[in-house]
Amino acid sequence: MANINPFAMAQQQLDTAAAKLGLEPAVHELLRWPMKEIKVLLPVRMDDGSTRVFHGYRVQYNGALGPTKGGLRWHPDETIDTVRALGAWMTWKTSVVDLPLGGGKGGVTCNPKELSETEKERLARAYIRAVAEHLGVMRDVPAPDVYTTPQIMSWMMDEYETILGEHHPGVITGKPLAIGGSAGRVDATSRGGVYVAREAAKKLNIDLTGKTMAIQGFGNAGQYAALLGQKLLGLKLIAASDSKGGVYSENGIDPEALVKYKLQTGTLQGFPVTDAISNEELLQLETTVLFPSALEQVITEQNADKLKCKILCELANGPTTPEADDILDQNGVFVLPDFLANAGGVTVSYFEQVQNTYNFYWELDEVYKRLDLKMTHAFENVYGMSQQENVNMRQAAYLVAVARVAEACRLRGWV
Ligand code: GLU
Repeated sequence: MANINPFAMAQQQLDTAAAKLGLEPAVHELLRWPMKEIKVLLPVRMDDGSTRVFHGYRVQYNGALGPTKGGLRWHPDETIDTVRALGAWMTWKTSVVDLPLGGGKGGVTCNPKELSETEKERLARAYIRAVAEHLGVMRDVPAPDVYTTPQIMSWMMDEYETILGEHHPGVITGKPLAIGGSAGRVDATSRGGVYVAREAAKKLNIDLTGKTMAIQGFGNAGQYAALLGQKLLGLKLIAASDSKGGVYSENGIDPEALVKYKLQTGTLQGFPVTDAISNEELLQLETTVLFPSALEQVITEQNADKLKCKILCELANGPTTPEADDILDQNGVFVLPDFLANAGGVTVSYFEQVQNTYNFYWELDEVYKRLDLKMTHAFENVYGMSQQENVNMRQAAYLVAVARVAEACRLRGWV
């Protein structure tokens, strides 16, 4: 996966924005680092009676705008630096969509594919016991991310409530509906991405109906991007891939059938009437919208020049390196940067918290309407900034997001 340190990459992106904004040195330094980091060891009893010790992290990157907010990743390559980078991006994400929340992230270094359901439950509960004192609706609120699910959120919320002896549904978001989840949370990340792709197409004067899309990464975000890209924008899916490889058909692939196939077989390979395609080939396809929807650093200076999409809608966090960004910029690819494109997830997480606090739940239509408003507004702000400052969309998103967090730090008297 990562060939440059993802946190160095996040800092580099911030440095560019700091220079452009003329940030005071103290504000710049404050925003370059997490304000608080928690590292825990998690001894967990395995089903065979042995004990394994997992390493867990929670990074509360910046809380100037509100309680820190961000997902928990369970991944074999998780390190303190991936969590720091993702915490920084969460800080810019909540800011760019104007939520009253800070940014944070957590993770456990593990391979969930090798864990049984009971082992996952014990790991989830162990994590919460280790970090509970640092969490809370008014402190820090986790959510799902790569390889963590609504079921895992349920165990975590239950453990937290057991420790405190009272209900606190808002301590974690992305929960199942039956125990305080929000309608529309499950596809929110992709839906938000599809809304901003729609807005980008308007600016570029592209009618997306019947145009093509390709999706790299076919987990939750990738699957819903395929379904909603077709349903809401009329896009035709021509290729999709996951960590094992992908499938391609220039005549189009039925997203619903492909999602069903992946959920049943655990793979995309062998899906009827398609050709095999590698991840790398998929990125280089001639397509209108490309959705990188898996992990960091898949678009680098090695392959950026070969991308032939018109709109790059980054549902993954950190898929494009700064060097690749410059190349895409020169080649006229319209980039919807990660912390704008994938902000739909945390936006509906915020709605979930609001509903938990009121103990009153919204209809699906209400969630869609409010999400669309938030995403469209954020897109307009970033697009306006890119025009005004004559910078690309990622730089513009940084300018909008960093300026808001910096102002909050100043107003609090931190700097
Ligand atoms: N993990 C998601 C993200 O990277 C969602 C975070 C949240 O809902 O708090 O945006």
